Amino acid sequence: MPHPRKIDPVQYGLSPPEIRKLYSEFARLLLGRSKELLPLDRSARENLDEQVLTSPGDEADASVIDTNADYFLKLANSHQHELIEIRDALDRMHRGVYGVCESCSEGIAVARLRRLPHARLCIDCQSARERLRAVAYPREKPTL
Ligand SMILES: [Zn+2]
Repeated sequence: MPHPRKIDPVQYGLSPPEIRKLYSEFARLLLGRSKELLPLDRSARENLDEQVLTSPGDEADASVIDTNADYFLKLANSHQHELIEIRDALDRMHRGVYGVCESCSEGIAVARLRRLPHARLCIDCQSARERLRAVAYPREKPTL
């Protein structure tokens, strides 16, 4: 008689029908995160407008404003990116493919989804992709 499979769904993925049972938990996480992000995104953009619209009095101020504008632009872009990812995750939920790795079609570990509810890839595929990226875009690459 075979041993029952001892697979911890928190560490390993679930099958799609099992993941679907957890959709409400992850939908709450996703919606909660987007509610947090929307006001942050708005205030980053307002700060950005302010930085750009306030004309600098002298050169020293100009460099401070550049740095600040750059900071708020990066912040706004990362919020925007996360909001898009969240919208896409909710869309995958509607299509019943949420929590399934887009690369290998295995279930994404529940622990990973709790940490990163908009994850598209399982940890293995994500690490493989990051290794590839590190090869394609090495940090030490000289800029000409
Ligand atoms: Zn995968």
